[in-house]
This record gives sequence, C-alpha cells and structure tokens, in this order.
Amino acid sequence: MSSLHRAPTTPAGISTRSVHSGAMPESHTGSVVAPIFQTSTFVMDTPGDTRAGFDYARTGTPNRSDLEDALCELENASFAAAVNSGTSAEVAVFSALLGPGDEIIIPRDVYGGTFRLLKNEYERWGVRIRTVDLTDTETLAAAISDRTAIVWVETPSNPGLDIVDIEAAAKLAHAANAVLAVDSTFATPILQRPLDLGADLVIHSTTKFINGHSDVIGGAVLAGDGTSCPRAAEVTERLETHLASVGLGVSPFDAWLARRGIKTLPLRMERHCQNAQVVAEWLEGRDEIAEVIYPGLPSHPGHEVAKRQMSGFGGVVSLRTDTEARALALVANTKLIALAESLGGVESLIDHPATMTHLAVADSELSISGTFIRLSVGLEDIDDILADLAQALAATTKGADGIGSGAAGNDHAPSAARPVLIG
Ligand SMILES: *Cc1c(COP(=O)(O)O)cnc(C)c1O
Repeated sequence: MSSLHRAPTTPAGISTRSVHSGAMPESHTGSVVAPIFQTSTFVMDTPGDTRAGFDYARTGTPNRSDLEDALCELENASFAAAVNSGTSAEVAVFSALLGPGDEIIIPRDVYGGTFRLLKNEYERWGVRIRTVDLTDTETLAAAISDRTAIVWVETPSNPGLDIVDIEAAAKLAHAANAVLAVDSTFATPILQRPLDLGADLVIHSTTKFINGHSDVIGGAVLAGDGTSCPRAAEVTERLETHLASVGLGVSPFDAWLARRGIKTLPLRMERHCQNAQVVAEWLEGRDEIAEVIYPGLPSHPGHEVAKRQMSGFGGVVSLRTDTEARALALVANTKLIALAESLGGVESLIDHPATMTHLAVADSELSISGTFIRLSVGLEDIDDILADLAQALAATTKGADGIGSGAAGNDHAPSAARPVLIG
C-alpha cells in the first residue's frame, strides 16, 4: 500500500514475518524502525494525486497500513482493518453486515462486552441475538436458519475457554449463506489461523496478546481472498465502506506500538503457553480448586479439537474454587499477579469475572459463577508465578471462618459498587 513497504520477499517463517513485514527500513532516512506519522492529512500534487495512497487520516495512515500488512501476513489474510479497539472491530462487522430482522448466533460463553454491545446497541435496531452452545456442532446445525446472517465464534472463549471446531462451523454457516466470524483474540495468529480453516472473518482485540504490553487499546478485523469464502468480495467491500464512513481507525502511535508488539509475538506466545501449561497442571493438584479449565489439559472437553486447529493452547487458565469466598480471597491475596481487567500482557493478571469483566452478563443466561477465576499467565519466571499462587491460596485458608480476609494481601478486593468495565 504505502511506498514505504518493500515488495514481499519469498515465503518466510512466522517469526521472520513477525519481525520483518512492513516498513523496514524506511526509505527516506534509512531508519530501521518505521517513524510515527502523526498527521491528519497528506499533501497532493494535483487534486486526488497522492504520494503514497494516503489522503486523510480517517481513511488510512502509514502506521495503520504497517500494522494491517503485518496482521495480513500472519493471518494469511488479504484484507485487514486496524481499529481503535477490539469492540470497534465488532462494531464494524455488525454494522456492515446486519440489518433489521437478521439473526446473529453467538456462543454461550461469548466475551461479555460482545454480548453487551449486541444487546444494548443492535437489538433495538431489530437484530435478533441467539445464544447457542457452539462447542457442539449438532446444536449449531439445529440452530442455524435462513435468517442467520452471522455465526459468531469465539475460540478459545473468554473466560470459559470453550473450544469451537472452526472448520465444522464454517461449513454449516456457508451452507446457510451466513458469514462465519471468529474472535481469535485468545489464540492470536501464532496459534490459530481461522481463515485457513474456512472462516470469512477474523476479529482480534489487539489490546491483548498481539500488542502484549498492556499499553494500547486496539482491534482488527481481517478477511481472506475468497478461496473458501463464497461472499468474501461483498463482505470486504461492505466493511471498507463502513470503516471509511465511520472512522474507527487506530491512531498512529497505537498502531506503531501494536506493530512493535508483533515483533516478539511468536516468542511471547511460546512462553505464555509454556507457563500456562505448568500453572494449569499445578492447580489441578490443589484441594481448594474444584476445576481447572485449560485447553492444554487432556481433561478439557475441547482438547482434541484444540490440538487439531491450534499449535499451542494459549496463555489463559481459568479455574473454579470450592467456594465463592475463596475465589474472592484468592484474587485479593496475590501479590505478583495483579488483580486487573484485561489479559495477554507480559505481566500476569488475575480477574474475578462475576464482579469485574463479565458483570454485564450477570443477569443473563451467560452469567458467570462467583467461584470462577480467570488467570492471564504472563512471562515472569514460572517459579515466581507458582510461589505467588501458593501463598495466595495459603492465605485463603487462614482467617476465623476458614477463609482469609485478604487484608494481608494487596488490598484490592473487588467491590460491587465499581463501574461496569470490561476487559
Ligand atoms: C478484550 C476482548 C474483546 C474486546 O476488545 P477491546 O480491545 O477491549 O475492545 C473482544 N473479544 C475478546 C475475546 C476479548 O478478550
């Protein structure tokens, strides 16, 4: 797209592509790293005659193109739009493709913010929402109809880590002339490439693993070239028109940061997966833990599908404690692992979805038990992560009622009065 970009070289491995796709070196000064083009507009030599295809920054910028090119290369996509949040990527898909009377099928363990967005902003325009257990292909086959415009898959899902068979879902969606969109935030293109499995669209919250350093809010929507997607051309054109009209594009600085994050994405995902597997196996042996949910455990119902469609199981481990009081005490007592919304950063984070990230679904069929905890396993030394979990679990069994108060911990117990924030 931009004159900064070198012609694609011979097919390279995913780590090489993560480092090299896009503008390196920049042609004007030889800067090894792309500069940040902090501008709202671009000079033309004669009306409409731009220097590098950029005219006005709502519709595109060099840094946004850089990020989009890198994402395309990693996902084997031919279209990418880098936008200002994962939720904006969803807005683009829903607004571009849904109209009154259309139905969207969403998974029972959909990200809480996706559910809230559809419920609050799209239902009143006549969009019908149907919640289905997509881990069961038969259930999807029974639910899909000629009213279905989009089948929305999230795999692994947030926070339940459900695994959906993308290839099977794509076949069913296409048979009904519906679009299959996959929120692949937890997997990243390093571990899973839904377009290669037949999906029409891939959605990412780049806020999470892709940027990976907890300092950007961003998102992306990607599409393939139509090899396996009958409606690719039409879908991509609708998205482009919508995005240019609305202006959801990510800012130059945030695009630059996310592009930088991608350079270490393969390396980070490798360590996230390693650490998460060790944490999951360690937690499985603990009496206080009623259930450990991680696609890398043979006990996970989606383990076989995950092995088939992913090259690693991701950096998030979820668990259920024996009691809700213990869950609250545990998240209040970790010291190294911060209690915070969001995930996918270099630092480990712990979340109590029922009172934090997924408060928006509390009164719906998607509500999450108070015993449930989501752990984003970071890149710290594994011994330090385990030691922190061990001391926090030990603290939950002190206290008069058998459950620690959390007073000895990092003083950040969630309160029901906090605002509804989702991450
Ligand atoms: C965080 C998240 C989103 C929303 O992304 P934002 O960047 O916070 O808008 C969507 N889907 C999943 C699975 C997420 O984890």
